[in-house]
Amino acid sequence: MNFLEEKILLEGSIKEGNILKVDCFLNHQIDIDIMRQMAYEFKRRFRGVEVNKILTIEASGIAIATLLGDLYDVPVVFAKKSVTANSTDDKYMSQAYSFTHKKMNNVFISKPYLNATDRVLIVDDFLADGQAAHALIDLVHQAEAKVSGIGIAIEKGQQQGGRILRDEGYHVESIAIVESMDWETQTIKFREQPVLPLSNPKLSIG
Ligand code: 5GP
Repeated sequence: MNFLEEKILLEGSIKEGNILKVDCFLNHQIDIDIMRQMAYEFKRRFRGVEVNKILTIEASGIAIATLLGDLYDVPVVFAKKSVTANSTDDKYMSQAYSFTHKKMNNVFISKPYLNATDRVLIVDDFLADGQAAHALIDLVHQAEAKVSGIGIAIEKGQQQGGRILRDEGYHVESIAIVESMDWETQTIKFREQPVLPLSNPKLSIG
């Protein structure tokens, strides 16, 4: 079992409606040590892949994206969901249905923050049906940039997002993949993944 799977079993809970609640380290309170380990793990899994920008969507992807941006020493951009009075730039716009909020969100990025020369590593907290990931991919393509890979903290393997993205040819790396979870018994099974030899952020990773 890897560090994230252990953390989920220790501190996560399952809510009715196929929702995994991990507010205490990912979605409300941020456990910096876990974020750091995830960032190192993504860097290890995407070794050799060209990346000059990290992209996520507000809000919960931002913490992981920031630590990953620090490791790569590249800018971090997050797609926004609501237009504010000061967002006057031209925008790339897309849409994503929110699994947790059960509504369609407009998502956008101001044009100056995505360029055709960008090689983008997309990261997010969860992958369920793939709506958020596809909206981010759409924004990258509108800018004529390229998706280098997709790094996900927790993939819900019972939903189709991961399979669809991999079938589309994207390099998707999910640190924990939930194979099944049961609300009544509060049990979670993870998909077996190769043992991860280097997830300790204190080790040098190059
Ligand atoms: P997708 O767009 O892939 O259908 O869903 C991914 C998004 O929905 C994530 O950005 C995450 O915010 C949210 N999400 C989906 N399933 C869960 C879940 O079980 N728990 C939590 N906390 N968020 C989820």
